[in-house]
Amino acid sequence: MNTGQLVIVGVDMGATHIRICLLSPDGQVLVTAKERSLPVVENGMAEGLAGFIGRFIAERGAGVAAVMIGFPASIARDRKRIMSTPNLPCAASEFVDLADNLARRLQCPVAFERDVNLQLSYDVSERRLGDKLVLGCYLGTGFGFSVWLNGAPYVGAHGVAGELGHIPLGDDAARCGCGNKGCLETLCSGVALARWYQGAARDYPLSDIFTCAGDDSYITGFIDTAAKAIATGVNLFDPEHVLLGGGVMDMENFPYPRLIARAGDFIRKPLPYEEITFAKASSSAFNGAIGAARMARRIMLPAT
Ligand SMILES: [Zn+2]
Repeated sequence: MNTGQLVIVGVDMGATHIRICLLSPDGQVLVTAKERSLPVVENGMAEGLAGFIGRFIAERGAGVAAVMIGFPASIARDRKRIMSTPNLPCAASEFVDLADNLARRLQCPVAFERDVNLQLSYDVSERRLGDKLVLGCYLGTGFGFSVWLNGAPYVGAHGVAGELGHIPLGDDAARCGCGNKGCLETLCSGVALARWYQGAARDYPLSDIFTCAGDDSYITGFIDTAAKAIATGVNLFDPEHVLLGGGVMDMENFPYPRLIARAGDFIRKPLPYEEITFAKASSSAFNGAIGAARMARRIMLPAT
């Protein structure tokens, strides 16, 4: 089979792009690459993913020690069963037994993780916050949230903890992609922001929304809703650090100072308000894939 070294593989499977990271056993990033997701998986998820990973492995003449794949999905506590992927262009049946199928094809352990947990895992390792309680709030297509607790992402009793995007702090009349009504994401998400932008004629592109409409009452209300959601997470978990990121927050002139100030209005005093620190999450596109590979190295390889 393989004659070269073993590598650890991390994959970040997004709706638009799929990204891969190969890691050496001692933790060095060997390769990062991205391709469009749809061509990789359109003829079958298991075959497509195994082929995609296999190509990069073959190029290095290496073997695979472990594979961790991040999905924008709810994943059961066994970190194998994918329960809901509203943002991926695939039928739910594609995910049945996917981890075991991939493990057979790739001849190595395969596990899955929610994508925001991998993003936070990356940010925590870069900032050396592994022993802290850290919240990641990622405002992108949806409202991603992740809790770093006791040295790992906190996943709850069933694997689905941290769904801040689905607290009932949204439009009571609107149905969320998850099936419930009134979720936060119906008001506070990239999808909601784009819907507002498209609801009238604008003389600026969507990417300039915070530059050209920052004082509009819709945008100030949008930021207030995000602040209330972040404060809810902070008041529940009492973290040391909150990292803020995601595609919407990465947009030009996103009002970070206002968001943090408004979150502060709703955070309990004197604590955690007086001690908490906010920081921007890193926004490199390969964080999720690198985070996946690092987590695989940490939890899927036999201890040496
Ligand atoms: Zn929902």
